[in-house]
Amino acid sequence: MHIPDITIAIDGYSSTGKSSFAKIIANEFSFLYLDSGALYRGVTLFAIENGYIGDDNTINVPELDKAMNNLDIHFGPEGTYIGDRCIEKEIRSMAVAGKVSPIATVAEVRNFVDKKLREFGKNGRIVMDGRDIGTTVFPDAELKIFMTADPLVRAQRRADEMKAKGMETDLQDVLKNLQERDYIDSHREVSPLSQAEDAIVLDNSHMTMDEQVEWLKSVIKERFGL
Ligand code: C5P
Repeated sequence: MHIPDITIAIDGYSSTGKSSFAKIIANEFSFLYLDSGALYRGVTLFAIENGYIGDDNTINVPELDKAMNNLDIHFGPEGTYIGDRCIEKEIRSMAVAGKVSPIATVAEVRNFVDKKLREFGKNGRIVMDGRDIGTTVFPDAELKIFMTADPLVRAQRRADEMKAKGMETDLQDVLKNLQERDYIDSHREVSPLSQAEDAIVLDNSHMTMDEQVEWLKSVIKERFGL
């Protein structure tokens, strides 16, 4: 299916399958896929490794802000990179998952990531997933999807995904982490997770990936008169 040069913004709660869905769509339509959460996770890893966030999640904002001036974070062939170091595995760990939402509340971090995202996505034909893509990063995106699903279904999916990657997992820990992230993400002051007025809701609690893709194609056909 050939679709016009649009920007597709996919937002929603943690572990609703946004990135898997976005990747498949990007592949289907020959669009570029950009994972905004990976940048927040990358900044978090950087903050952990350099001591800008403590065990109690206290953040040294001025120092982190200064250090981000020289932070070369970007996407490459194997995912997310800092300089030429691939950080894809580290950013998916529970250590990073436990600190990413506090880091993502920091306005300076959001400005840093927003700038990168707009730069990476400036040529259009992109699918970007996150929490504030349709509301803040690309408010003019032609198609906005807001994804949600039952928390237990989401936790089980994330735990299965981690197990498949050989990571140690406990379903209750995963559930607790995603509920904490949902809470912090929805209640922060700067760009909280919220459904854009013109977004279409996709609740995929009981949908297969194929059903979701078919659903999206019918939305696009109707919207763009294809
Ligand atoms: O999408 P993912 O779960 O990898 O995102 C990790 C975290 O990054 C989220 O829980 C959220 O705190 C933050 N995030 C954000 N805004 C985005 C994308 C992610 O605040 N656009």
